[in-house]
Amino acid sequence: MNIEGIISVSYIIATILFILALGGLSNQETARRGNWYGIIGMAIALVATILGVVTHNYVPLFVALLIGGTIGLFAARRVQMTQMPELVAILHSLVGLAAVAVGFANFMDPDRLTHYLGVELTIHDIETYLGILIGAVTFSGSVIAFGKLSGRMSGSPLTLPGRHFLNLALLIAAIWFAYQFVVQSAAGGGMQPLIIMTVIALVFGIHMVMAIGGADMPVVVSMLNSYSGWAASATGFMLGNDLLIVTGALVGSSGAILSYIMCRAMNRKFLSVIAGGFGTGGGAAAAASGEDQGEVQPIDAEETAALLGNAKEVMIIPGYGMAVAQAQHIVYEITKTLRAKGVNVRFGIHPVAGRMPGHMNVLLAEAKVPYDIVFEMDEVNDDFPKVDVSVVIGANDIVNPSALTDPDGPIGGMPVLECWKGEVSIVLKRSMATGYAGVQNPLFFLDNTRMLFGDAGDTLDKVFKAL
Ligand code: NDP
Repeated sequence: MNIEGIISVSYIIATILFILALGGLSNQETARRGNWYGIIGMAIALVATILGVVTHNYVPLFVALLIGGTIGLFAARRVQMTQMPELVAILHSLVGLAAVAVGFANFMDPDRLTHYLGVELTIHDIETYLGILIGAVTFSGSVIAFGKLSGRMSGSPLTLPGRHFLNLALLIAAIWFAYQFVVQSAAGGGMQPLIIMTVIALVFGIHMVMAIGGADMPVVVSMLNSYSGWAASATGFMLGNDLLIVTGALVGSSGAILSYIMCRAMNRKFLSVIAGGFGTGGGAAAAASGEDQGEVQPIDAEETAALLGNAKEVMIIPGYGMAVAQAQHIVYEITKTLRAKGVNVRFGIHPVAGRMPGHMNVLLAEAKVPYDIVFEMDEVNDDFPKVDVSVVIGANDIVNPSALTDPDGPIGGMPVLECWKGEVSIVLKRSMATGYAGVQNPLFFLDNTRMLFGDAGDTLDKVFKAL
């Protein structure tokens, strides 16, 4: 078999492994195996590309691989679980940046006009244009998402007057410059419209993500994930690399499916989220959240332990604060103790709990909580009237009743875990601060809610000792 045949076979094997990886990642029990398929597939793809496709310039390639690999290794080792969503966002931005860089390099290739003629040149130019466009939107959008997720930027939506017209104007301009680019490129020019479009795409990416309110960020994260896939796919077209096209399409479509799932979980329409400005009507409500809503009823660790020890049905609702406190291990210790006493302990997981899709499942899996006591929101939401004690660990927006009572608020319409329908809810948090969406939570002020203040790791330690 010649070298091209070997490369093709390697690419096909890598593609199959990537598909198996996605299949594996869809289930907690097979996720580890899925990850390995992905790692092996990527290793095969890299080796085949480096040894087969690259024919010269090995030195800069290896220097770049070494630098990039080292940065990636250190970033991944040092990142805290709570910073994972930001890391993912910034990595998406790099895919976008790479697509822009490849696009410009492709355009500036001196052989371009002799390689491609007539309609082939037009097709190649459109590929380049689209690759840079998607890449630039992904890049600037992901940088803003990184800023919002890491708390460096405010999570509230920026709603410029006439923002929909602004978006429309940017879209029309991008189409107009595409036409200009294709015409000028055939005559040997085209750099100017390409640069103008890149700036337009960067502005569009910034504006799109800035306009999205805190609570809708999960959709943005999955959407940028999808964009990064399409950017990679467009790069594949530019470079004529089949594996990149297929891999990009896999990432792009799985990200799109995830966005759809997230939208459904949050009861949002995808287009409305992308158009942005959700929660603007609730800006006033959010601002007024500091208003006196009544008294909260604090509880201490001993009382909490007593309530838990006497319960028959316990529902644990983890949220972002559990990740911050790294409380998943002690939660599981408490779970084991309670189950040994005959208490039925279950975990109720909201689809957007934490800061990335599947965040809570990952943490609970890390603590080795058995999968058969971890349930999705829809599976347990009707059971709350039968629950004796709900333990809300560092969760806020996902248990906020105002999502159901205030349809115009920032989280209006989002289904939430209705723990207040149970006998008592114990909320673990450090202060009366709001959650990610910035809305005050009426749950804290209800008669059957008790507040256990403090870092969830410390307070749960005390509860465990008292048990
Ligand atoms: P929230 O951000 O609503 O609330 C987290 C709560 O945890 C805060 O109120 C905070 O209160 C508390 N907390 C923080 N640290 C600690 C600690 N060490 N110990 C105890 N409590 C702590 O989180 P939820 O999980 O309820 O909701 C997720 C939110 O994030 C939703 O609005 C969702 O839309 C958004 N989001 C989700 C993404 C996803 O993909 N899952 C991505 C991006 C955003 P205090 O400071 O008083 O302790």
